[in-house]
Amino acid sequence: MGLIKDKEYLLQDIRAMGIKDERVLKAVEETKRELFITKNIEKEAYGNYPLPIGYGQTISQPYTVAFMIDLLDIKPGNSILEIGCGSGYNAAVMSLLVGKKGKIYSLEIIKELCDFAEKNFKKAGIKNVSVVNADGYFGYKKAAPYDRIIITAGCPLIPKELLNQLCKDGILVMPLTKYFGETMIKVVKDKELNISEFGSFAFVPLRGAVEGHKDLNI
Ligand code: SAH
Repeated sequence: MGLIKDKEYLLQDIRAMGIKDERVLKAVEETKRELFITKNIEKEAYGNYPLPIGYGQTISQPYTVAFMIDLLDIKPGNSILEIGCGSGYNAAVMSLLVGKKGKIYSLEIIKELCDFAEKNFKKAGIKNVSVVNADGYFGYKKAAPYDRIIITAGCPLIPKELLNQLCKDGILVMPLTKYFGETMIKVVKDKELNISEFGSFAFVPLRGAVEGHKDLNI
């Protein structure tokens, strides 16, 4: 079965799993996942599951990508900070939603994956994503504040510095690591923080400064 047919099934699957926003579905449809994985697994590009990208990391399951992006409620022109660029796939889907006037800064702690992602963006003709080799726990002050922040690895707490770098009324979506696996949370920064939970997921853990932090601040 060819990739085009596979993509059709993937879209059906994601819809059936509850993603309704047509803009998000269109962005997933228009993003070539095969450009964000290595050639040897290209046939599996549109499987609704994570795939290895080397260095013990994975490109997330397309449903999870769509679910998180749906929660982020991205508007054209938004400036977005992503923690965990990996293959660049998640950023690629978001890049379509922010459009030409929007901008994505994607932080990645593994240098080799920064190079991989940059190569993938080039292949896909994506120009509004900047990859930065840094520990995302501290955010990226240079381009702050951000309308939206997304963390694509499991994190045991909500990093304070990321909240500082989020605009008023901004949204942060992240998998919060609890005792077993992750709970998806959405944080809306008003005068207070409005935190809501959206079910269980499994993620690779965020590395760097946050490792060893076990205090759950929720
Ligand atoms: N969004 C990615 C998948 C994320 S997997 C994609 O679409 O392919 C999680 C990624 O987070 C991995 O690439 C991992 O190296 C990176 N990562 C882990 N800890 C990090 C940290 N502290 N700062 C930045 N990136 C980190």
